[in-house]
Amino acid sequence: MGYFSIALDGPAGAGKSTVAKKLATKLGYIYVDTGAMYRAMALHFIRNGISAEDSGAIEAACETADVTITHQNGEQVVLLNGENVNGLIRTEEVSQMASISSANKQVRLKMVELQRQLAKQENVVMDGRDIGSYVLPDANVKVFLTASVEVRAKRRYDEQIAKGMECSLAEIEENIRERDYRDSHREFAPLVQAEDAVLMDNSDMTIEENVEKLYEMCMSAQN
Ligand code: C5P
Repeated sequence: MGYFSIALDGPAGAGKSTVAKKLATKLGYIYVDTGAMYRAMALHFIRNGISAEDSGAIEAACETADVTITHQNGEQVVLLNGENVNGLIRTEEVSQMASISSANKQVRLKMVELQRQLAKQENVVMDGRDIGSYVLPDANVKVFLTASVEVRAKRRYDEQIAKGMECSLAEIEENIRERDYRDSHREFAPLVQAEDAVLMDNSDMTIEENVEKLYEMCMSAQN
C-alpha cells in the first residue's frame, strides 16, 4: 500500500501552515511546508546578491543551492547547503524574494522533485499553492483553503504584533494582494483550486474548528 497524502493549498495567510501542522500531529503524519523550501531558495538568492528579476542568475544559482528538509521533535527543519535556516526565512525581504523567484520554472522543478520524493517516503500533510493541482495530483485528500483578504491581512498583522514587530495593516494587505496576484498569474504551476479539491473558506472558523473539519475529511477518506 502506498502512503497517504493530504494536499492543502491556498493563498498567503489562509492559515494553512497553522492548521496543517496541527492536522499532521493529530493524524501522526509528517508536515511538509513547501513555502519554506521556496523561502530557503530565496534566501540563497539574496545572499548571492541576485536580483529577483534576473532569471538567468536565478537559474545559475539553483545549481549551488541544496535544499533538504528533516524533522526534529515534530518540527520541520529546512537546510540550505547543510545550514538550518528556519530562523532566517520569515522576514519580509525573503517573502518578497520567494514570491517572485518561485515563479521561475527551474526553481519550481527542483522543489517539486523534492516534494514528490518526500510524499513517496511517508504519510504527509503538505501545504503550498500547487500541491493538489500539480505536485501530488493523486493526493488522497485535497483542500483549497482560503479566507478573505481582509481576514488574512489581519491575521498576519496580529502575528507580527504578537512577535513585537512593528507593521502596518494597510501595507500587509497590499503585500498579500500582490502575492495573490503573482501566485495566480504565473505561467508555470500557478495557484489554482484543483478540480477535485474541496473549497474551504475559514474566515469565520477558529483554528480548532478548521482542524476538526479537515480531520473528519481525512478520516472518512481513509475508510
Ligand atoms: O506559504 P509561504 O508564504 O511560506 O510561501 C512563500 C512563497 O513561496 C509564496 O509567496 C509563494 O509564491 C511560493 N510558493 C509557491 N508554491 C508553493 C509554496 C509556496 O509558489 N507550493
